[in-house]
Amino acid sequence: MDFNLTEEHIMIRDAARDFAKAELLDGVIERDNEQRFPTEQIKKMGELGFLGMMASTEYGGGGMDTLSYVLAMEEISKIDASASVVMSVNNSLVCWGLDTYGSPEQKEKYLTKLTTGESIGAFCLSEPEAGSDATSQKTTAIDKGDHYILNGTKNWITNGGTSDFYLVIAQTDREKKHRGINAFIVEKGWEGFEIGPKEDKLGIRGSDTHSLIFNDVKVPKENRIGEDGFGFKFAMKTLAGGRIGIAAQALGIAAGAYELAKKYSKERKAFGTEIMNHQAIAFKLADMHTQIEAARMLVYKAARDKDNHENYDLSGAMAKLYASQVAMEVTVEAVQVHGGNGFVKEYHVERLMRDAKITQIYEGTSEIQKIVISRAILKE
Ligand SMILES: Cc1cc2nc3c(=O)[nH]c(=O)nc-3n(C[C@H](O)[C@H](O)[C@H](O)COP(=O)(O)OP(=O)(O)OC[C@H]3O[C@@H](n4cnc5c(N)ncnc54)[C@H](O)[C@@H]3O)c2cc1C
Repeated sequence: MDFNLTEEHIMIRDAARDFAKAELLDGVIERDNEQRFPTEQIKKMGELGFLGMMASTEYGGGGMDTLSYVLAMEEISKIDASASVVMSVNNSLVCWGLDTYGSPEQKEKYLTKLTTGESIGAFCLSEPEAGSDATSQKTTAIDKGDHYILNGTKNWITNGGTSDFYLVIAQTDREKKHRGINAFIVEKGWEGFEIGPKEDKLGIRGSDTHSLIFNDVKVPKENRIGEDGFGFKFAMKTLAGGRIGIAAQALGIAAGAYELAKKYSKERKAFGTEIMNHQAIAFKLADMHTQIEAARMLVYKAARDKDNHENYDLSGAMAKLYASQVAMEVTVEAVQVHGGNGFVKEYHVERLMRDAKITQIYEGTSEIQKIVISRAILKE
């Protein structure tokens, strides 16, 4: 398949690669240890245009295609998956959602700040009892005429503490089930809006994950996104694109671990020769390379489908399912190639292995992707 990478695509990919090496590599281990958010680095990413890549130029976005975004995500994720999840949520869930479905006033007020990194956004769908089963929303937004009153709790929200603006999904009319769900823009600091403690995580520890609590928060009606009852569709459409970003993150984590393993195999000696000369190690690298290339084809295909305005539900789900599986398998093997050093933080691969796991969980678990895929193929 010819993806026809243009000179611009290559420029974007190289810019992301250079940025990751120059700005993210240094301190990535310490940030992971200390669960420290990459504040300065994210600010720079905003200034360089990495936080609103696909959004309209009219609102400060890059006006780029999905393939450009995926290429940049891959490069950032090779070095720092904590930074890349901030980038992914802000680009594909928050900016894309607002750019595609927001009103001109909402775009002017919020999107212009989110595309430049002046502010960061969060996407708040999951709840303590509504993860995969997103229709079971317990958070309520009661219509009071010119405003809504929001009550409930959201769980595991990326950028939960660092965001300024939150896209919150809530149930307005339970009788209407998923057609009674709405999406709202909520600002940090509004009365009754509380941010819970930061989660202590296995991976992507530099990212900032919190629960959010809403106690009678007054949300103006003009902050509802789309028509009444559009919230569930908004969430599903947005997540379908988000999955392509997470697939690219998984691809980057796998590729980063593979590159480290390949380099190490050329340097480390055992039994009088570089370990790459042992076929057991060479075959591991052959498998890794093949898996990564296959994942890359799926990820680029999903991005191309989205850019060509074709249905990308199936290709996005396949890309996420496969790339996240590859990320897990490749990172485990990369640790193995490194032997004892693989178990030590200094060599980066153990962190990549821990980071890989989340790509099989968020924005739809692997089991949920299989539901999406099987439904699509059985409908044909
Ligand atoms: C670090 C992190 C960051 C996150 N960021 C965000 C965010 O920014 N915004 C947000 O809204 N959410 C976020 N999430 C939440 C995430 O999307 C959910 O954790 C995920 O969707 C799974 O939901 P759950 O945890 O409730 O698991 P459950 O839905 O309880 O699933 C548990 C297990 O059962 C399986 N399962 C469930 N239903 C089925 C079924 N029908 N068939 C087969 N298997 C099934 C699942 O695949 C899983 O293996 C984040 C989570 C984490 C850990």
